[in-house]
Amino acid sequence: TTTRCSVVVVGAGFSGLSAAKLLAENGVEDVVILEAADRIGGRVRKEEFGGVSVELGAGWISGVGGKQSNPVWELARQSNLRTCFSDYSNARYNIYDDSGKIFPSRIAADSYKKAVESAIRKLRKEESNHDADLSVLAETPSVPKTPIELAIDFILHDFEMAEVEPISTYVDFGEREFLVVDERGYECLLYKMAENFLFTSEGKILDSRLKLNKVVRELKHSRNGVSVKTEDGCIYEANYVILSVSIGVLQSDLISFNPPLPKWKTEAIANCDIMVYTKVFLKFPRKFWPCGPEKEFFIYANERRGYYTFWQHMENAYPGSNILVVTLTNGESKRVEAQSDQQTMKEAMEVLRKMFGPDIPDAIDILVPRWWNNRFQRGSYSNYPIYINHPLIDDIKAPLGRIYFTGEHTNEKFNGYVHGAYLSGIETSKALLEEMRIEKERNGENQAFL
Ligand code: FAD
Repeated sequence: TTTRCSVVVVGAGFSGLSAAKLLAENGVEDVVILEAADRIGGRVRKEEFGGVSVELGAGWISGVGGKQSNPVWELARQSNLRTCFSDYSNARYNIYDDSGKIFPSRIAADSYKKAVESAIRKLRKEESNHDADLSVLAETPSVPKTPIELAIDFILHDFEMAEVEPISTYVDFGEREFLVVDERGYECLLYKMAENFLFTSEGKILDSRLKLNKVVRELKHSRNGVSVKTEDGCIYEANYVILSVSIGVLQSDLISFNPPLPKWKTEAIANCDIMVYTKVFLKFPRKFWPCGPEKEFFIYANERRGYYTFWQHMENAYPGSNILVVTLTNGESKRVEAQSDQQTMKEAMEVLRKMFGPDIPDAIDILVPRWWNNRFQRGSYSNYPIYINHPLIDDIKAPLGRIYFTGEHTNEKFNGYVHGAYLSGIETSKALLEEMRIEKERNGENQAFL
């Protein structure tokens, strides 16, 4: 079957839906949204686990309490989303060694200070490589070696760069972070947004403009339009396409372009790093970890960097849920994705027994998200260097004829975040609306000329 429409939006995550909403609000009614999965939300996704609702993807609303208001925080307020303030900064005082001892706070604070200074030196070095200021090159940043140094290095680089370098999210929107702990899930913000422009009933989207289970496989584009082909053989003829798939999907061969993407585009896409970030959830018959205000996050220091390092208990979020979350990234994420969940549970239990002793009970359930192996994601989020190379991101987001690129990875200031995705959708649709206006004007002139 062939369907005609003015714009096809590929992907119904935060960016795709915010893009479609802006188009609808500006009178572009015949938008078709094609989503590969059987649900909306993309990397915002909840699942029932151990009797509560846990977030497999985005968990926090980052950037709250500053001068400007974070638009995702606004959406959360409109939906009465239940959230819980998170303070990671205490994690450094709950660092366990292999024998279950907590490092004295002075040692932890000193190691932390040293790591921050070293990270700053490293950044300055990168900066000076850019600016050819050779005087800083002589100061070599120290390489983390001991378990505590490795643990802090991991926390600093995978979670807290804010303490080293200003991050736009914190500068613009504030430094507070809130964990979403709502049975409806983070994704209820998307349903709230969809309500404004799609037909919904009893919390379900029933609008025929949203099509689920539609895996886009080919974009055939020319000066006149784009023909979108899905895996089930349907064809959508559109004047324009907004492509909101992740940078990981763009790097994969899921979608082919005809004619192929030019070299500047494929090179930019290939040069963007992807972070894999995995939250492993473990359910226990009872609690055996310390609770209380400054105990939410704790760290395991091991000679292997990133090996079950960063832990969180869910008692603040859901008291009595007896759930722990351990975060793995990149190589460790890929490793656990490839092995059985039973093996991952065994490894996690070995680590927990080192921290809390041999008598703790075994976990009774485990949940391991697989963002890397999901062919509609291929990773968790884009990871640009702090000294962002502007042409790289400009090339990633630059439209190609009638194909517009959106998504968290196209947002210069807030890439990697939910609000980055949300704002990118708006930015892309604004640019497209302007292009449509110019095209209309041009056609009008041609009409008048004829
Ligand atoms: P997506 O949500 O990926 O949307 C793209 C959509 O396209 C998906 O629904 C996908 O199924 C669909 N798609 C893919 N291929 C095709 C195809 N061929 N045809 C049709 N559809 C297709 N951000 C925060 O702000 N705070 C956090 O705490 C946070 N933590 C995170 C933790 C994890 C584990 C992950 C994975 C992400 C986290 N993020 C966090 C990042 C945040 O989730 C993303 O930045 C944001 O959700 C991305 O939205 P998007 O619209 O750009 O992409």
